[in-house]
Amino acid sequence: MAEQAQAADTGPRPIVSFLKLQPKPHLVGSKCGTCGAEFIDTTRIACSKCGATEGFKPLQLSDKGKVYVFSVVHQSFPGIKTPYITAIVDLPEGVSVRSNLIDIDPEDAQKNPQKMFNMPVEMVTNVVSKDREGHEVVAFAFKPSRN
Ligand SMILES: [Zn+2]
Repeated sequence: MAEQAQAADTGPRPIVSFLKLQPKPHLVGSKCGTCGAEFIDTTRIACSKCGATEGFKPLQLSDKGKVYVFSVVHQSFPGIKTPYITAIVDLPEGVSVRSNLIDIDPEDAQKNPQKMFNMPVEMVTNVVSKDREGHEVVAFAFKPSRN
């Protein structure tokens, strides 16, 4: 048993609590059991619509969405390559998630913003670093949908 626990413990770690890696990568939110409001985070302690403090249910979110707004980031922390695109992606469940957009030329996006709004996108994950214990740290981004 100890060996099994250790094996599980060396697996990749999602960078945020609402990214789940199994059985395949997906985002989760929570749904208020009282009024039905939906949220992206899973650590919410009260519903911002009705004030309920319990009865939240996990909500599996789609890995496809549409770009709501975006901006091109030209300056960031040392070691972060710029420019890159950050966006808010609307998911069909009615919640929005902030994410980077990849596979799009940031300059082109800035010159032709009308191409960006409502663009269908899908979620992808990638390993961004290793933590102190050697676990791979997995982040997510969205890229243009191929269909
Ligand atoms: Zn509520």
